[in-house]
Amino acid sequence: MKILVINSGSSSIKYKFFALPGRKVLASGVCEKIGEPEGKLTQQVGDKKTTIEKPFADHGKALHEVLELLTGDGGVLADRSEIDGVGHRLVHGGESFSAPVLIDEEVIAAVRENISLAPLHNPPNLLGMEVARDLLPGIPQVGGFDTAFHQTMEPAAYLYALPYEFYENNKIRRYGFHGTSHAYVSRKAAEMLGRPASEVNVITCHLGNGASMAAIRGGRVVDTTMGLTPLEGLVMGTRSGDFDPAIIFHLLDQTDKTPEAINNMLNKKSGLLGLSGKTNDMREIEMLIEQGNERARLAFAVYCRRIRKYIGAMTAVLEHVDALVFTAGVGENSPAVRAESLRGLTEMGYDLDDEANAGTCAEAGDIATPKSRVRILVIPTDEEVEIAEQTVQVILG
Ligand code: ADP
Repeated sequence: MKILVINSGSSSIKYKFFALPGRKVLASGVCEKIGEPEGKLTQQVGDKKTTIEKPFADHGKALHEVLELLTGDGGVLADRSEIDGVGHRLVHGGESFSAPVLIDEEVIAAVRENISLAPLHNPPNLLGMEVARDLLPGIPQVGGFDTAFHQTMEPAAYLYALPYEFYENNKIRRYGFHGTSHAYVSRKAAEMLGRPASEVNVITCHLGNGASMAAIRGGRVVDTTMGLTPLEGLVMGTRSGDFDPAIIFHLLDQTDKTPEAINNMLNKKSGLLGLSGKTNDMREIEMLIEQGNERARLAFAVYCRRIRKYIGAMTAVLEHVDALVFTAGVGENSPAVRAESLRGLTEMGYDLDDEANAGTCAEAGDIATPKSRVRILVIPTDEEVEIAEQTVQVILG
């Protein structure tokens, strides 16, 4: 089957077009600066890159152009009707969705209802679904929510200790994100252990620009680090992760910062960028450390210490852990972060093999010593493939 996976953001549409089974990527691309005077569409088919520079007034025009490029000269399709399904990467499904779903009016209404929970992400996700339905009528569309995989958490894990009416009236609770990635790598981990996912306990560390961890017992999430929004938990590229919420009131009281400015600071100017004052990119942090930059060293130390604390917490939650997985940009590529995050955890069962850890990890691999009680795995994530495969499953019922 040929499946188009779409990730619709506020000013961009990213896409990947797959032939399944076999996970062959037929084309991939991104349309950027939608609604701005200078738009840009870049598509990759094999080694061939095509770039179109012109304004795209809205998401509908942008997706139209993508479909023209897929079907035009040098494209990969003779006609749009050859697309068997569209998979949408969606962010916030609230409590309404615990699995990928066929998109219908009800789903669209539910995403709309959850806008208040993800004001930056759900509106462009909605637009993506609406324009795809308009431009590809009759072709089944499936939505995969970032929050869905985490819906198996129990109230003890997802409730904040706030007055209960905020949960009842305002849906304030922990939802968790990166669910597509946590689901994909935890299943892969079970495959690598040669056991059914229903029988293994896994801690997954998704360390990209955003970062989160999940504790997964027998294929079901029991805890995760992100909360109502992706701000909570680990230190990230530009997000603070956990901090004392009273800091917000202190800043409101002691500085002239507005609530909007503080929100922006916590999401866009904190994390590695805030601490180092230089960059949100772990590669650059590591280079700066080599040059003796003290603030970069501190950013790295705070980042890894938070991961280590949560490995301890997730180990306690699971009681028994079979595998710990590192994935996403930093998790897959930074031996230094993996080593520092696991430092001192040998007695807890995590015994890293320094040589295996230092190797390149383009493919999934086990980087624990033979005597390590827990396997330590590096598994490249592929959220688009996961959504494409979910789309096929939903279509085939
Ligand atoms: P996104 O959340 O945007 O999908 P990615 O999963 O691609 O992010 O991760 C991006 C981050 O991965 C970059 O900010 C960079 O810090 C980190 N990264 C990529 N390659 C390396 C590397 N070789 N060493 C350390 N960090 C890396």
